[in-house]
Amino acid sequence: MARILITNDDGVYSEGLKLLADALGQIGEVTVVAPDREQSATGHSLTLHRPLRMQQLQEHVFAVDGTPTDCVNLAVLWLMKDSPPDLVVSGINFGCNMGDDVTYSGTVSATFEGTLLGIPSVAFSQEVGEEFSFDRAARFARRFTEILLKETLAKDTLLNVNIPAESPLGVRLTRLGKRKYKQVVVEKEDPRGRKYFWIAGTPEWQEEEGTDHAALSAGLVSVTPLHLDLTDYRGLESYSELRERFDGMTGDLET
Ligand code: MN
Repeated sequence: MARILITNDDGVYSEGLKLLADALGQIGEVTVVAPDREQSATGHSLTLHRPLRMQQLQEHVFAVDGTPTDCVNLAVLWLMKDSPPDLVVSGINFGCNMGDDVTYSGTVSATFEGTLLGIPSVAFSQEVGEEFSFDRAARFARRFTEILLKETLAKDTLLNVNIPAESPLGVRLTRLGKRKYKQVVVEKEDPRGRKYFWIAGTPEWQEEEGTDHAALSAGLVSVTPLHLDLTDYRGLESYSELRERFDGMTGDLET
């Protein structure tokens, strides 16, 4: 039976994680290692400046007082080190993780970490809307994972899956969309007269065919293959003029 590590960023007690673990428990041997509290938007952060604690809550369920990335490391490099997972699955997140937001996402970052450790990884996120159902999303996740487990997955396989709020009409392979960010910093004053700030705003998306956002808008499940190589390959070409100006820049720095 396939060994599946499940984590998330909404915390070990979240409904999305529980239903995902139940659903994937029908097709594999599931181990849950998840943050002991919500860690949404913690990105790919790793805890190096304080000790981490892991608490067993039930058989095969563990809580860590750290980030999703911490959880994947503790699970793969310690808890499951003698028989590492075949697949890392993160989610089901409460809310989409699309486009530029994937770098903020703890849900997606857990899968970045999975692939860095050489394990194929998938993130599931559920769009929040009137008809949304974690039950439906969990059933979809089970079918999707079942298909993946029948394939010979490359170790750097990383799929970011977003599930629409309504019953999905199909599945589309997509690229990351772009946000026209309407993010604002709201300034307020506390009872002692000191300023504090909230980062707020509602994302607005550029309407572009082929993106994750376009798929969700059309009522489809979006599957975006990702990789962690952030190199701007076009930039390597387009900055060639700058490259000439860089030549010789490092001479005489010692004087
Ligand atoms: Mn979350």
